[in-house]
Amino acid sequence: MTVSLDDRVTALPGVGAKTATRLRDGLGITTIRDLVEHYPRRYADAGEILDLSEVQEGEPATMLGEVLWWSSRRIPAGGGRKRPLDLAEAGVRQASGSVFSVTFFNQRWRVHQLPPGTVAAFSGKVKSFRDALQLANPDVQVLGRIDAGVDADRAADRLEHQRLLSVYPTVDGLASFKLNELVDVALDELPPIDDWLPDTLLAEEGLMSLDEAIRAIHQPPDHPARETARRRLVFDELLTLQLGLQWRRARSEADTIGLDNGPRLEGRAANFLDVLPFEPTRAQTEAFGAIADDLAAARPMHRLLQGDVGSGKTLVAVWAMLCAVDNRRQAALMVPTEVLAEQHHRTLRDLLAPLGVNVLDGIRVELLTSSTGTRERRRILGELLTGQVDLIVGTHALLEEGVRFADLGVVVIDEQHRFGVSQRVGLKEKAADTATGTAATPDVLVMTATPIPRSLALTLFGDLDVTVLDELPPGREPITTQLITRAEEDRRDKLYAFIRSEAAKGRRAYVVCPFVEPSETLPGTAVVDEYRRLAETVFPELRVALIHGRLPTAEKDAAMAAFRSGEAQVLVSTTVIEVGVDVPEATIMVIEDAERFGISQLHQLRGRVGRGGGRSFCVLFAGWSSLLSDEAVERLEAVAGTTDGFELAETDLSIRGEGQLFGRKQSGLPDLKLARLQDDRELVARTRQLAREIVAEDPDFARPEHAAFRTEVLRRYEGGIDDFAALETG
Ligand code: ADP
Ligand code: MG
Repeated sequence: MTVSLDDRVTALPGVGAKTATRLRDGLGITTIRDLVEHYPRRYADAGEILDLSEVQEGEPATMLGEVLWWSSRRIPAGGGRKRPLDLAEAGVRQASGSVFSVTFFNQRWRVHQLPPGTVAAFSGKVKSFRDALQLANPDVQVLGRIDAGVDADRAADRLEHQRLLSVYPTVDGLASFKLNELVDVALDELPPIDDWLPDTLLAEEGLMSLDEAIRAIHQPPDHPARETARRRLVFDELLTLQLGLQWRRARSEADTIGLDNGPRLEGRAANFLDVLPFEPTRAQTEAFGAIADDLAAARPMHRLLQGDVGSGKTLVAVWAMLCAVDNRRQAALMVPTEVLAEQHHRTLRDLLAPLGVNVLDGIRVELLTSSTGTRERRRILGELLTGQVDLIVGTHALLEEGVRFADLGVVVIDEQHRFGVSQRVGLKEKAADTATGTAATPDVLVMTATPIPRSLALTLFGDLDVTVLDELPPGREPITTQLITRAEEDRRDKLYAFIRSEAAKGRRAYVVCPFVEPSETLPGTAVVDEYRRLAETVFPELRVALIHGRLPTAEKDAAMAAFRSGEAQVLVSTTVIEVGVDVPEATIMVIEDAERFGISQLHQLRGRVGRGGGRSFCVLFAGWSSLLSDEAVERLEAVAGTTDGFELAETDLSIRGEGQLFGRKQSGLPDLKLARLQDDRELVARTRQLAREIVAEDPDFARPEHAAFRTEVLRRYEGGIDDFAALETG
């Protein structure tokens, strides 16, 4: 009797209820498919198992035995070491009775992983220490516990026969080794696995069959086979994802009518560019071209506009919105925070001033946020409905019930990843809810404040067209970034002196802190404390302003206004100033506890300076209130090392991996088990291309040869395409 992928794991011989429960609760594995899709985390080069008497200094070796004892000590910093070192040593007894020693540096958790009585295999390089041979920081394979009757012989046998040993993500009560056994049984019992991809495609793409790939990923004969297997499985993950995205897009377009918002000769959009005090960059001009085509096309625009801080996305957005006005429609710009909404509202009015704003024959621009007063709000809503308002800037308040447009033509959504797709859809639906009741879908332009590596953008926003502003306008001031750790305490005072001298020249400084108020649990600077310290002790002769999210709007406005006008020279703030805020005279950005911020946040914050007020500086204070991890140092050094947002985004992606970079729910990033967008860039692009071709030819997978595509997409995104959408909206 054979089993099939959709059977429960208990269908496997030797798998009882207890193991099944552990698999389910610990790893979410219920079916045999789940089990064989629980891929190895890494592979240990097991090598031959040797006895202590056989190993040689400097050679790699695997030794197996029972942990007898532990001893640990701490070696203080010094002798070239910045930090103290934790040294833990275990004695391990082999079958021959000889005892070898294994040492771990800064891996104290090993003591808990390997309590006395644990049988494990240790693989590493043999070193000599005080005349005794030992393994330092070896790879560890926990095989089981002596008192639980682990079969050390069988374990040894497996290690001998499988040169590359798969190491699985595990949970308590399920050692990696147990998973090796379970997967073994499953692969033995399973008949050859059907392939959902046609042979012709496999041949064209140079892919291994699914059956071979599943077997080889678990039990690779060698590294190249493991790589080939991985490539096939990654291809599957990415292709189903891209097929799903393209399918959804095809569906949502199938029942929508686009609007012709194409630019008009001698319209306001054209006029706007004519009166600009500067020339658009090449990248901006290209964006106008792509957007113009979208706006005019019969299907609604669905485009992502990406660009680094300061690349001039706003200008492109304003131009697209004016195209709506030229077609006698309205446009909305939705942003994630009130500060940003106000900022954008001001920017829009400034940019459009030459065309006339809120005057007869001019362009009507309004602002709507949750702090808009009741009367004002009523007026704006009324004028939106009658079509008197041309452009509206707002927060999610734009999505509230009661906000209705006369004729919404273009929607721009800024800072995409803070919204998520639900809002995108929400504002789009507003269009259907218009006075005239036309069911046409507005053109949507999505902008991200944070550069996203292309591979990630194509995955996250697989159903959007992507335009990248890969060029900064001329005349940007260079920004010098410095990292200052606690060991360089005197540099803090020098910085303050520098801020004083810059302030005397009319320049301004931001000081950003991670917290509003002191926290019991997380060490770090609170903005309220820092404000007091700077205002009272450090800069008594300057005016220091304070802004954070918990202040009443009037106080926030007053602080921003004081800083913008120069009345205040120092602005102490939380990350509310992170996005969009534009004060050209601000040339110094100081970030306290910089280790508390992510790469893209630091980059965003830094982007607040260097906006035309002269040479600019960014100072990252790190390690003042907490110890710096290696990862934090890596992050901070990356930020100090370049001001290229795309390069930083790539670094971020490779340090953290996509899983952490964007929360799954928030980003809509589906469960990619093997794919690493950064490493698998080529496959991302290739599968997207393929999916586009397939869906363009056969939008609903109706052809017999595409039936398997449909099944596979639906299987991976349970419940169908709508659920797939739900996955993104979280
Ligand atoms: P982003 O929104 O991409 O961060 P902005 O649209 O705020 O960037 O533009 C940053 C600054 O550059 C603004 O002050 C804007 O007026 C200016 N700017 C935009 N495009 C150009 C250009 N082509 N030439 C010169 N300055 C520009
Ligand atoms: Mg259109």
